[in-house]
Amino acid sequence: VAGVSAESVIGVDLGGSKVLAGALSSDLTVHHRAQRPTRVRDQAELVDVIVATVEEARSGSDVEITGVGFGIPCTIDQVRGVAVMAVNLPISDMPFRDVMSERLGLPVFIDNDGNAAALAEQRFGAARGAPDVVMLTIGTGIGGGIILDGNLCRGGRGSGAEVGHVVIDMDGPPCQGACPNRGCLETMASGTALMREAREAGLRAPGSALGRALAAGRPLTGAHVTELAHDGDEPAREVLELLGRRLGVGIASFVNLFAPSHVVVGGGVMAAGDLLLDPAREVVAERALRPAKDMVEIVPAAFGPEAGMVGAAALALDGLARQAARA
Ligand SMILES: [Zn+2]
Repeated sequence: VAGVSAESVIGVDLGGSKVLAGALSSDLTVHHRAQRPTRVRDQAELVDVIVATVEEARSGSDVEITGVGFGIPCTIDQVRGVAVMAVNLPISDMPFRDVMSERLGLPVFIDNDGNAAALAEQRFGAARGAPDVVMLTIGTGIGGGIILDGNLCRGGRGSGAEVGHVVIDMDGPPCQGACPNRGCLETMASGTALMREAREAGLRAPGSALGRALAAGRPLTGAHVTELAHDGDEPAREVLELLGRRLGVGIASFVNLFAPSHVVVGGGVMAAGDLLLDPAREVVAERALRPAKDMVEIVPAAFGPEAGMVGAAALALDGLARQAARA
């Protein structure tokens, strides 16, 4: 059904610090972008900010908009169109789909931001056209999504798939945020874990570049550790290798479960590129089952900061195509 229409939609990436809306055609031409901060007092103010941003993207583009897709950092109840629980935004049990549809006067499609990014990569990016794809977005936490037979796997009420909360160490450290588990991939291999491991490695090797940066009181960012590793600092390389191997343990489970042709890895931590992915590929080759491990490609994401916006647009294009097919 996909790929024949020349429709234009608005893709909205809703984040903890800003909302980005883009008017896109189905060939990914961006006609207009609009952006506003989301540091708001309450849900009512957040709704007003989102509506204003979408209206700006709509009026600034010269194409007819037929639908709006939203990627939201939130668990979603797809059955009722409700944004259930967010960590970084004042959203709680909000009938997001109906509220936005009424305010904007357009069909609205919503999903978790991880699912939106997965859709962007599978429709238009690093796994374009591949039917079976696992996406991991590594930032402060780990999000992502699973696409099988070309469709997002969302589970019963549509709140899946929380790929960052696969356990890789039963007795590992407590997970982040509202997750009651221990040793999740998110707490072992996220940007937050990278910072924690880099600090410890710097303390163990005070004479290294990493150790000197730490002693100088410079805040260690993922980008900084990556830069030191690229320059050949051994402790910095070892930290990225450790994180990559942990990532590989998680990916091996996804390979065994879903036998995807592509595992796409995105997010800020991917500045490390193959310093992170090569150890992950080695672990998958060591640990996953054949034949799945022989056919999987572990690749960096094609989309950077605009993944959410593109994915939200893909969500709207998909939703409109599905509605047209039903009609
Ligand atoms: Zn967890």
